[in-house]
Amino acid sequence: MATSQPAVVADALDEIHVFWLAGMSCDGCSVSTVGATAPSVEGLLTGNMPGLPKIVLHHPVLSVEAGDEFMEPFHQAMNGTLGKQFVVVYEGSIADERKNDENGGYWVALGRHEVDGDMQPFPTADILQLMAPHAAAVIAIGTCATWGGIPAAAGNVTGSMGLMDFLGADYRSTLGLSVVNIPGCAPQGDNFTETVAAVLMFLQGIGPLPEFDSLGRPAWLFTDTVHQTCTRGGFYEEGIFAKEFGDKQCLVEIGCWGPVVQCNINKRGAINHVGGCMNVGAPCIGCTMPGFPDNFSPFYTKPPGTVVSSTTSKTTGYFIRNLRRFSMMYGNRSNQWNKQGHVTSGWGHVAEPSALQKVAHYFYSAMQFRGSVRPGSRPESKPAFIGTGWGGANEQAGARRPNDKSTPPGFQPDSTGPHADATKELTQQ
Ligand code: SF4
Ligand code: SF4
Repeated sequence: MATSQPAVVADALDEIHVFWLAGMSCDGCSVSTVGATAPSVEGLLTGNMPGLPKIVLHHPVLSVEAGDEFMEPFHQAMNGTLGKQFVVVYEGSIADERKNDENGGYWVALGRHEVDGDMQPFPTADILQLMAPHAAAVIAIGTCATWGGIPAAAGNVTGSMGLMDFLGADYRSTLGLSVVNIPGCAPQGDNFTETVAAVLMFLQGIGPLPEFDSLGRPAWLFTDTVHQTCTRGGFYEEGIFAKEFGDKQCLVEIGCWGPVVQCNINKRGAINHVGGCMNVGAPCIGCTMPGFPDNFSPFYTKPPGTVVSSTTSKTTGYFIRNLRRFSMMYGNRSNQWNKQGHVTSGWGHVAEPSALQKVAHYFYSAMQFRGSVRPGSRPESKPAFIGTGWGGANEQAGARRPNDKSTPPGFQPDSTGPHADATKELTQQ
């Protein structure tokens, strides 16, 4: 459920500014975002999405401006003089800059600001803190920005944290939104652009309020588990598991946490509906989850829960699998082959069903066609026409069959009119 109820802006926007800040980041979120296709970043930036405002992006890598010219809009957004609605996107976790108070250094900065008369690097954590109260929305992209991620793992000396922890549970944007979280390491680019588009549509009054879960994730993207949509799920259900990397079966016994991880990459692919962890042979290590990485380590070892779940599916899967192979055997035979008693394959010998299998198939198909007509079993003497047909009441009422060439009762020959030839032919029969 949505945790905050944003307001629709009074007048439709013609453009909205997006300020992209980076913290303790590898830039993977930027890379995956520019690979998005539905919608694409180009579509959003050029205003090609019907009804959506054009996005003016301020990005430290992608913007063409540099130096003071690049930083000026950031300062305007911080001091509330930009005069336009804007969104802040933060990539990477937020280091605790207070830890640098004694040494005078900094962890992550963008541009400079004046400190005690000197121009000093401007920490992005401070920029975020000053921008957030004026922003229409604050979006954390990637697991570092959402929950802290790898920089916040055990042993972290930077005090790194996610935006929720940095801004606090009471934070609301000017439109009443809590921090919106798009996790993933790296996140799926379309998850980000689709959420941005959905929020903008709502703010423009042309779309419904997007549903967010209790952790601020787009609910329609992050409710299902990896396992529920995995291309290898059928192997799991039949109790067949990969023994080593490169095997095609379910990866749970070599370290997949998919059954307990909320992520949609199997459905959506990594970029342009291609790739995605299990699709390319990688077990899930839980990178979208707040507990990542510590709660999913050591990677590539069997999760303890597997002892119960995979043992159960091995047991039940053995029986189910063999029953399905039995049905598959008859699904792989044509009726013609059944009648003639052998398969005319030039590729090799196809074993005939045993007497026991034939008996079992007899009862199986009896159940299959109970209450319906088995193909080929309809008596051939029945009228081939359906609906009102040509037999019965119609025929008694004088209706003629289509191939009836006898002279109709009361027929008056046409010897001179336009149908004379046809009439002559008919009366000669
Ligand atoms: S590979 Fe992972 S997500 Fe896929 S079926 Fe196996 S356990 Fe589930
Ligand atoms: S499947 Fe697992 S490892 Fe892969 S992106 Fe999703 S959460 Fe991360």
